Amino acid sequence: MPTCKNCTTAFTITEQDKTFYARINVPAPTLCPACRQQRRLSWRNERTFYQGVSDLSGKPILSIYHPSKPFPVYDQAEWWSDAWDPFDYGREIDWQRSLLAQINELFQAVPRPSLFNRNCVNSYYGNIQESNLNCYYEVGSGWCEESYYSTINIHCKNIMDSHYAHQCELSYYLVNCEHCYSCVYCQNCHNCLETYFSYNCRGCTNCFGCVNLRNVQYYWFNQPVGEAEFIRRIASLGSYAFWQKMKQEFLAFRASSLQPYAVQVKCERSTGDYLSSCEDVRSCFDLVEATNCAYCYRGEKITDSLDCDIGGWPASNLYEVLSADTSSAMIGTVFCWENSFIQYCYHCFTSQDLFGCSLAALACGGSDTVF
Ligand SMILES: [Zn+2]
Repeated sequence: MPTCKNCTTAFTITEQDKTFYARINVPAPTLCPACRQQRRLSWRNERTFYQGVSDLSGKPILSIYHPSKPFPVYDQAEWWSDAWDPFDYGREIDWQRSLLAQINELFQAVPRPSLFNRNCVNSYYGNIQESNLNCYYEVGSGWCEESYYSTINIHCKNIMDSHYAHQCELSYYLVNCEHCYSCVYCQNCHNCLETYFSYNCRGCTNCFGCVNLRNVQYYWFNQPVGEAEFIRRIASLGSYAFWQKMKQEFLAFRASSLQPYAVQVKCERSTGDYLSSCEDVRSCFDLVEATNCAYCYRGEKITDSLDCDIGGWPASNLYEVLSADTSSAMIGTVFCWENSFIQYCYHCFTSQDLFGCSLAALACGGSDTVF
């Protein structure tokens, strides 16, 4: 059993892992799965923001990079524009020197975008957003409207302080909830309405402090109280102190309730948590419709991949990648979307057959490019 070069703990390389490494012709890893993920995520600053200026125009910007960074950072609109040419940074490979050292030198020279937001309106203060409208401090969210201080909300409206809310509206403090309306402090709840402090409920309406209930109405800490009594109790909720008291009572009640060992829905031969419609995935988390993957975190429609954080929609044959949307056959990439057959690349889009590139796109000739 190998020992991790970073944390020195022993870790397992399974027969499936070895088959994958042989198929894509890479050596076995020297770091354990946790340290490999830590290395990948160190490339992704989601939500720590800095005030700075664009190194292209001097205009004030919000940035995910500290002003003392060693590389140029451009306002995201300027970075995507034709005001500069990434191929000006192209260079010859020195075959006598380390390739990784030269790739790092390139990455330190090519400008980086201050933020990563696409097709957003009035949602400047946020990062990794897609098609958001009137949002503030949203991170990793898409197609949301008037949502604030949240991460990974998809198709939500009027949501605050939530994580992983999908198609929810007018709600506060949701975690892993879907199709909920007017709910507060709920986790793992689906299709609920006007429900508060609840966990793992489905199709519930007017419930408070409930755990593991299905299709009920007017329940208080898993007991029926009737419409009039429920309305009377809800009317008494008002002060912050009372909400905090209810929160503590709910957490104690939830801790005493039966809970699933993992959240897996329609999964076959899979290990991990928050998996839905997955087959043959190992040590994976927050995946939907994934097949034959291992050590992956957060993604959808991803197949035949190892060590991928935030990828899919769809993607296949990925290894050691971070943020890989709609791509296939990528190794060692960061923030590379809609590519195929690229390795050791950073900020490359709609390209194929790249090695060691930073910012390339087919629109500017990003094909069959090295450095
Ligand atoms: Zn380790």
